[in-house]
Amino acid sequence: MRLHSLRARIALVFVVLMLLAQAAAYIVINSVILKNAHENAEEQLSVAERVFGQVLRSNSQQLTQAASVAASDFGFREAVATHDSKTVASALQNHGDRIHADAVMLVDLDGKLIADTDGAAHEGMAFPFPHLIRTVAQKGDASSFGMIGGKAYQLVAVPVKAPIVIAWVVMGFAIDDVLAREMSSLTSLDVSFLTVDERDRWDVVASSLPEASRVRLKDQAQLADDGYATRMVRLHSEGRTVAVLLDRSLKEALAPFRRLQSALLLITMLGVIVSIVGSVLTARSVTRPLAALAQFSRRVGHGDYSGPIEIRHQDEIGELASAFNQMQEGIVERESRITELAYMDRLTGLPNRALFNDRLQHAIVAASGSRRPLSVMMMDLDRFKLVNDTLGHPIGDLLLCEVAGRLRAALHRPTDTVARLGGDEFAVLLPEGDLAAARVVAARMLRALEEPITIEGQLVDVGASIGIVIYPEHGTDMNVLLRRADIAMYAAKRANLGHALYDARHDHNSAERLSLMGELRQAVEHDQLTLYYQPKVDLATHRVTHVEALVRWDHPTRGFVSPDQFIPFAEQTGYIKTITRWVADKALAQCAAWRAEGIELAVSVNVSARELILSSLPEMFQGLLEKHGVAPDRLWIEITESAIMDDPNHAIETLDRLHALGIRLSIDDFGTGYSSLSYLKRMPVDELKIDKSFVMGMTHHKDDETIVRSTIDLGHNMGLKVVAEGVENEAMMQRLNALGCDLAQGFHLSRPLPPAKLAQWLIEQSAQADAFAEPSLPA
Ligand code: C2E
Ligand code: CA
Ligand code: CA
Repeated sequence: MRLHSLRARIALVFVVLMLLAQAAAYIVINSVILKNAHENAEEQLSVAERVFGQVLRSNSQQLTQAASVAASDFGFREAVATHDSKTVASALQNHGDRIHADAVMLVDLDGKLIADTDGAAHEGMAFPFPHLIRTVAQKGDASSFGMIGGKAYQLVAVPVKAPIVIAWVVMGFAIDDVLAREMSSLTSLDVSFLTVDERDRWDVVASSLPEASRVRLKDQAQLADDGYATRMVRLHSEGRTVAVLLDRSLKEALAPFRRLQSALLLITMLGVIVSIVGSVLTARSVTRPLAALAQFSRRVGHGDYSGPIEIRHQDEIGELASAFNQMQEGIVERESRITELAYMDRLTGLPNRALFNDRLQHAIVAASGSRRPLSVMMMDLDRFKLVNDTLGHPIGDLLLCEVAGRLRAALHRPTDTVARLGGDEFAVLLPEGDLAAARVVAARMLRALEEPITIEGQLVDVGASIGIVIYPEHGTDMNVLLRRADIAMYAAKRANLGHALYDARHDHNSAERLSLMGELRQAVEHDQLTLYYQPKVDLATHRVTHVEALVRWDHPTRGFVSPDQFIPFAEQTGYIKTITRWVADKALAQCAAWRAEGIELAVSVNVSARELILSSLPEMFQGLLEKHGVAPDRLWIEITESAIMDDPNHAIETLDRLHALGIRLSIDDFGTGYSSLSYLKRMPVDELKIDKSFVMGMTHHKDDETIVRSTIDLGHNMGLKVVAEGVENEAMMQRLNALGCDLAQGFHLSRPLPPAKLAQWLIEQSAQADAFAEPSLPA
């Protein structure tokens, strides 16, 4: 037990207080006992003194009576008068014996002894106590003490009258040990008779004390020191002073109190022991729960929240313990809330980016250990922005929650993770998934999203693009994997593929991409690009009034490079701006050239989504139209439906400005972008181009034909021309014609052709058109 500990201090304070209290009680009680004992002794002495006086007085009376009887005896008086010493002596002896007197004497008027029974003094001697006789003569009676021949006596004197005083009878009791013992038994004190001589020396005449103690009596002070209470009574005496010493042994007097005292001491000691034990126990009972609380708070401090502290006290400590428990609960709650906030996406309840990255990191470590592949998928919703803008953020949020739920349901293994990284971007981790597994899961997720989603009565249609990467094939570092999954996702989106596996060709940062970029620049600068033109044929008249300009790249070493390969790449790098400008410049120049040759053709130019948000686009076209002196209505701009729907508000703004310039607008790949009719109505477009996938599927799939037919109807309702692209055979031509489609474009009519070949084709085509027209003409 450390001395400065609370427990030690509590115990110490208690013990000291108890000791002080016990000691004070002991001292007070003890002093009262001692005082009582002394008072008792004094009281006994006083009583003894009175008793002693009484005894001496009665002795004196007894002596006086016996002496008087002798003195008044007729025969005796006669014997005295006649000096019959023999008779006197025997009479004296008789009277003395009756009361057992120790001394009987006859003294004549001259103060000389006439007779003495004891023989201590001798006839003719002077009586040693003349004062006694004088006092009796004056007062009638008296007693005195005195020494005769080394012995002490109590003496009385009585006159012998015949009828005048003729002599004195003196009678006395010896002061001896017998008397002392008698007195002692009466008073229950020790009684001693002392004499003091001329030189003030004390001598013991008689005593009730044992012989050994008598010696000490010679020095009275020493006796007091030895623990006796004493009282000295000087007796009326002649000659040597006689005194009686009454003494009471304090030791004896205290004896009954001593038992009380030792009982008190015992009780005090017990009290001290009990208080020490009690205070130690109390201190421990106070400090033990404190130690437990301290231990508990250290545990909580280390983040161990395994259960509450068990202190069932009803007092302040119990209160403190329950406050500690509440504190722990509060901490646990807040900590889990913090963890939740840190690792959960608040809207959907899915893990967030931080948690996803964490799990991916761990999965990479585990996979590198087990040498097994893992897969990561990045998913982005198509048309989410559209939903948000048209239906509002609350619906957008509900949509995200619904999507989250479906994605979660699409994962069957508990170890798989789907997270929301932000916005409409989701990520999936399959820690034990190879490519085959990833493709299965991706397909399942896409199917899950194909099911119609109804939110607050509104049918919302979303699709998704998923990019897949496999560890370690596509990277061993988390950031590389995530970046490449993102690239794969964009590739999937562009190609409208649903899901796509990462391919180095997707990555514009790769060496090949870099060199391709340089080569593309060179191609533009060195005129390696050319424009081909594909005609749009009027289904009713078979005449050609429009052509679409399609870029071609005849690479010196690679050969022919499809626009599908380099246009997306140019879009990513921003180089598309240069290409569009080059295409528009070339197309308008061609348009002007044809016109000069007498061929009236409007020319369509494709514009990418990226460019639509460039505010400088209308000015660029305006400048080129002026440069080549081409009327604005000769220029058509084709924009894919999905490009418009990525950011409809922005797109409409640009389209309005292009429209204001007199340029015609066409929505390309219609049917793939899920346009909202409300947007479509607000757009200043002139033409819809049904996507070739529907047109080509039309003859085999009923659904595709339905889409084609409804698109034609929709376009017509809105006053637009409808073009079908991808027309590959006559049957399609017939069908489209029957459905009322306005224009057709496709390999069946013509592949994209260089200008010279197109001119030739046009001549053949116009002949056909004429032939086609003829039968309907009247002869
Ligand atoms: P697009 O705008 O949908 O162009 C039509 C594509 O369909 C052309 O492919 C054309 O050759 C092809 N096509 C025409 N008729 C048929 C047919 O009957 N059957 C089949 N299977 N295909 C047919 P191309 O020229 O390879 O161009 C591919 C895409 O590249 C274009 O699709 C367009 O999005 C883009 N593109 C081409 N040139 C340019 C350009 O100058 N600028 C921009 N921004 N994009 C361009
Ligand atoms: Ca086009
Ligand atoms: Ca198209």
